[in-house]
Amino acid sequence: MNPQTERTWAEVRPETIVSNMRAIRASLPTGTKYLGVVKADAYGHGAVPVARALEENGADYLAVACIAEAVELREAGLRLPILILGNTPPADVPLLLRYAITQTVADSDYAAAFSAAATAAGGTLRVHIKVDTGMSRLGFLCDEANLGESVDAIAQICALPGLQAEGIFTHFAVSDEPDADSVAYTQRQIARFNAVIDALARRGIRFALRHCAATGGTLFYADHALDMVRPGLLLYGYGDTTGKLGLRPGMTLKSRISAVKHYPAGTRISYGGTYTTQRETRMGVIPIGYADGLHRVLSNKAQFWTKDGFAPQRGRICMDMCMIDLTELLGVGVGDEVEIFGEHASLDTLAQQAGTIPYELLCAVSPRVPRIYL
Ligand SMILES: *Cc1c(COP(=O)(O)O)cnc(C)c1O
Repeated sequence: MNPQTERTWAEVRPETIVSNMRAIRASLPTGTKYLGVVKADAYGHGAVPVARALEENGADYLAVACIAEAVELREAGLRLPILILGNTPPADVPLLLRYAITQTVADSDYAAAFSAAATAAGGTLRVHIKVDTGMSRLGFLCDEANLGESVDAIAQICALPGLQAEGIFTHFAVSDEPDADSVAYTQRQIARFNAVIDALARRGIRFALRHCAATGGTLFYADHALDMVRPGLLLYGYGDTTGKLGLRPGMTLKSRISAVKHYPAGTRISYGGTYTTQRETRMGVIPIGYADGLHRVLSNKAQFWTKDGFAPQRGRICMDMCMIDLTELLGVGVGDEVEIFGEHASLDTLAQQAGTIPYELLCAVSPRVPRIYL
C-alpha cells in the first residue's frame, strides 16, 4: 500500500480546479481576465501544483498574501504575474524587483517608501492601488467624506518615480450574502469604486487592471467585475452554494479505519466521556484529529462518509484520532477509507457543524497530511 495513504491524506485534483476555472470564466463577460488566488498554500491544496495548473491553462495573474508565498512560486518556476495582497516591508523591495512581483499599495506612507526603495535599487515596482469602499480593512478610504482626499493621494502616488501603477482594486464585505441590505451595501461599494476610477480618469490616470470581484462578486456581480476577477474559494469548488456553476471540490480529505471495537451500552467514549453508548456499539477508530486539522469543536457533531453511507462521529476528537459509530455499517471495517469532506461529505456542511466557514477548515488541513495529486 502507498505509505502516504495509510493514515490520513488529502486527494487533490488539479484538473478539477482547472475545470472550475473554465466554468467560472464561461460565466463572465467576454474578455474578463482571471486571477487565481493561491494564498495560504492555495487554500490548502498546494500553491505550486495549483499555480502551475492555472498557468498552463490560461490564467492571467496569481495572487498571494505575502512575499514568502510569492517567492515560493517564483523559485518553483512560475512565470505569471503575481500580486501580493497584503503589505510588504519596504526593505524587501529589491526582492520584489528581482522576482518581478506586483505589490499592493494601500496608503501614502508605504507608497513613498516603496518609491524610494525602488529608485535606490534602480528598478520600477509594479503596483496595484487598494481602495477601501466599505470592507474597512486595507486601502484608501473612499466613502463620500474621504473620496476627494483619497483621489488626490492616489494621483500623487501614480506620479512617484520607481512605481508603475498597473492596477486598482477593492474588496467586497458582503457580496456573498443574498439579503437586500447586503445587496444594497455591495452596490454602494461598486458605486464608490467607480467614483474613484472616474475621478482619476478625469485627471488622465487610467489603470490597465481594475478589479473587485472575489467569490461573491464573481458569482453575483459579474457584470460589475471590470477587467479581472479574483475568486479563491470558488476556484477550489466550494462556495457555489446555489450550484449555479456546477463546480466540484478540488480536495477530498480522507482517513482509513485503523481499529474496530465493540462496547456494551453505557460505555463512555474518549476524553471527558462526552458520549455514552446507547446500545451495543461497533466503534471504528480513525487516525485523524485536530493536529491534522479536524477541529475539536466538531466533536459529537460531524458525520463522515464511508463506502456504505455516513457514520456519526462519537466522543471528543483527540489530537491524532477520533471515533466513528459503525453499528449500522457492518460492511465497513479495518482498512476501509473514510471521507472527512469532499465529493460525498460536503465541506460546507462540516463548516456549519463547526460554526465556521469552509475557508477555515481548508486552511486547517495541516502539513502532516500528505497531499496526493491525482
Ligand atoms: C482572499 C482574497 C480573495 C479571494 O477571496 P475568496 O472569498 O476566497 O474568493 C480575493 N481578494 C482579496 C483581496 C483577498 O484577500
